[in-house]
Amino acid sequence: MSKILIDEPEPRKEKVAIVGAGLVGCLAALSFARLGYKVTLYEYRDDPRNETTVDRNLRSINLAVSDRGIRALNAVDLEMSIRVLKNILPMRGRMIHDVDGHQTSMKYGLHNEAINSIDRAYLNIELLNELDRHKNIKVNYGLKLMKMDFSGKNGNPRIYFEKTKKVANTLEENAIRTFEYNFVIGADGAYSATRFQLQKFVRMDFSQEYMDCCYIELYIPPGASKKYKFQLHPNRLHIWPRNKFMLIALPNFDGSFTSTFFGPWDLTESLDTREKVIDFFQTNFKDAVDLIGLEQVVEAFLTHPKCSLVCTSCFPYNYKGKCIIVGDAAHSMVPFYGQGMNCGFEDVRVLVELVKKHEYELESAFNEYSVTRQQDLDAIITLARNNYTEMSHNVNTTRYAVRKKMDAAMHLIFGDKWLPLYTMVSFRGDIRYSDCIKRSKVQGWLLSQLELGVYGLGAWLAFKAIRAVVRDR
Ligand SMILES: Cc1cc2nc3c(=O)[nH]c(=O)nc-3n(C[C@H](O)[C@H](O)[C@H](O)COP(=O)(O)OP(=O)(O)OC[C@H]3O[C@@H](n4cnc5c(N)ncnc54)[C@H](O)[C@@H]3O)c2cc1C
Repeated sequence: MSKILIDEPEPRKEKVAIVGAGLVGCLAALSFARLGYKVTLYEYRDDPRNETTVDRNLRSINLAVSDRGIRALNAVDLEMSIRVLKNILPMRGRMIHDVDGHQTSMKYGLHNEAINSIDRAYLNIELLNELDRHKNIKVNYGLKLMKMDFSGKNGNPRIYFEKTKKVANTLEENAIRTFEYNFVIGADGAYSATRFQLQKFVRMDFSQEYMDCCYIELYIPPGASKKYKFQLHPNRLHIWPRNKFMLIALPNFDGSFTSTFFGPWDLTESLDTREKVIDFFQTNFKDAVDLIGLEQVVEAFLTHPKCSLVCTSCFPYNYKGKCIIVGDAAHSMVPFYGQGMNCGFEDVRVLVELVKKHEYELESAFNEYSVTRQQDLDAIITLARNNYTEMSHNVNTTRYAVRKKMDAAMHLIFGDKWLPLYTMVSFRGDIRYSDCIKRSKVQGWLLSQLELGVYGLGAWLAFKAIRAVVRDR
């Protein structure tokens, strides 16, 4: 694609390198280009738009884009946001599938709010296409960050890349290339090399925890009917909750659903023969098997990769005004709140606001980012972890349904002064993650008091009735 089309802002003389052209790296590139910086992106994979790029099917993931992600895209450029999100499918609630195949719909919000399903690889490609429209953005594929130090002019970062084998075809294969920039943004994912390098210069707290849960991708094809291609409700996130494990499915535009099995490693690895897989799926997910196809379930379960889920957190996220990490590089979380990418996009929006607030004085902007962002990132990592129990177990319980109704009723009565937690996290990007937790704790306590009051009143009325009956005997 030829470069252009975007009105470039007043150019700045500083140059920034962004490591990783995933979702967050692309948005960071667009945002910093909009601020006038000269941006170079380094990505160790090949360009995914090349026909020869290795098949990505087995790890195709559908993401739920929600308010925080959309706000961050809008903040860069509304038209760009509309272009990249043109193929989203709104999901207005959960559809719970019980073992007998009965389905129960639970709306996410009282005002028809939706989270939106989109294929991760597709969204990445749309964002890469947007990069091509800017003349102050350059993308280098096939270069893997190996090392970083701050030995450049004025303590500037020097970054060292290795040409990755897959795309290396010259005598220079694996030769280290060195570049110097004014600053570096690391957006290279959960196993970030930028973060690893940064730890040599910053007293960074870091923790990494693997969850005892793995996931396997499955696929529900479109239905046979030409008129109506969806085999399930297209505007729901489908969940088959079975306590310790679950299946979910998110809709695609072509009528198919990307489905994911989540379960403990021991259980998943024990299902290692055709017979065991068939028995397990027929017992627990009979209606899903009818949609996926028995042979397809067996094939997927025995051959698709079993992927792990890792939570990482660290602090601080920057070294002076010279390097900062965003997205999964700074905080990878389990996917159960559908917030990993949304939060990574929000990182970029918050960072850009601070750069503007500090009038491009990067050290103060980056320092303030680290200090203020930490509590929000810790909050969403905790929320995401807790939501596994909500999705795989709580949604099946009567108490959960009753409390949801009470929560919704309070919202109806008190409006914005009472917002259910899910609403705050997914539909109200103007509320900080840390405030979502604070508000929800108070509301939770009040709901418990109300529950006690209701049970107390019930018990008192029951007692009065019993006494009246007994007296009249
Ligand atoms: C099953 C599952 C479901 C999910 N569902 C949702 C959801 O519904 N909603 C949501 O918001 N989030 C969801 N997420 C999380 C979301 O996928 C991630 O948060 C998001 O992809 C992170 O983007 P990123 O750009 O920070 O990192 P990545 O997507 O990991 O991108 C990092 C990039 O850096 C490149 N790279 C890595 N190392 C180097 C190096 N040394 N040199 C150069 N380049 C390098 C990689 O090739 C990659 O392109 C889900 C995740 C999973 C696993």
